[in-house]
Amino acid sequence: MTPAELGEFLAPHGISAVEARRLFAHHVQHGRRNWDVKNLAREKIARVAAVVDTPTLEVIDRRRDPADGFMKYLFALADGARVEAVRIPIFDDKYTLCLSSQAGCPLDCVFCATGRLGFARNLATWEIVEQLRIVRDEADRPLRGVVFMGMGEPFLNYDNVITAARIFADPSGGAISGRAITISTSGVVPAIRRFTDERHPYRLAISLTGATRARRRSLMPAAEKTWPIDELIDAVRAHAAATRDRVTLEYVVIRGVNCGADDAAALCELLRGIPVRLNLIDVNDATGRFAPPSDDERRAFIDALQPLGAPIVRRYSGGKDVNAACGMLAATA
Ligand code: SF4
Repeated sequence: MTPAELGEFLAPHGISAVEARRLFAHHVQHGRRNWDVKNLAREKIARVAAVVDTPTLEVIDRRRDPADGFMKYLFALADGARVEAVRIPIFDDKYTLCLSSQAGCPLDCVFCATGRLGFARNLATWEIVEQLRIVRDEADRPLRGVVFMGMGEPFLNYDNVITAARIFADPSGGAISGRAITISTSGVVPAIRRFTDERHPYRLAISLTGATRARRRSLMPAAEKTWPIDELIDAVRAHAAATRDRVTLEYVVIRGVNCGADDAAALCELLRGIPVRLNLIDVNDATGRFAPPSDDERRAFIDALQPLGAPIVRRYSGGKDVNAACGMLAATA
């Protein structure tokens, strides 16, 4: 629940909106596991404890990559499903959390270990928020950002993800700037349009990874079949116009597959006139089927993309030694 929802829920139990917000901050912002809120009458605390359940997730495993400090968490859910989250160090002074929105994923991007698991279910809002509370409360530095880039397609669990983002951004909740919360989608067009219409403060990132129908169909079959690239690009254009900002596009780069001169030319043609920033992410595939490009191949691809006039960033994806990098989350210890 958001603070407002908690206030409405507790009002019939004689708890004021101000008291509900203090209870919310006690639990979410300060990470307390009881209701011992200062200056709140004992009998009110007893009433809250009688009607508010605060379940948690079990941490089955934590693995830290010694090479770069990325830390992967494996959580067990009450029904036996498992999800992962990754704590990402930012310089030496803070963390960002990459978290999961679904157990497994109904989509089937061929380069992704989560997609190979199949789909179990959507996570409830509290299961998303609890990932943050657990990781943050044992961290040695402040947690200042969240990316919905873990297991699952966040926009297929839209309502719970947006409610979780609201809780993260609330000053009594995660107290994280809305601009430091990024929701990444493989291209769920109706949800992108809804997100645009609702004018959220959170950042949007869209995984493109192919510049033509054929290329995208071979790499992200379910996404391309359901939301074809032309419709996706229309939604990208509308989002850029509504926000007056560049749209972040993610592109998983795969040696010999999607980073040739023809791919660069198709990408320039597809995105002509649309303000974007392009994040290139080397593929991580523990099965060995796909490999990242060579330095020469990547450099040639970036050179060929210069006519776009867009910022092109090579995004670091860490935690490879503990299978925590992009595309590697498979909920295994
Ligand atoms: S890349 Fe994202 S949307 Fe695609 S299968 Fe993996 S988790 Fe699902």
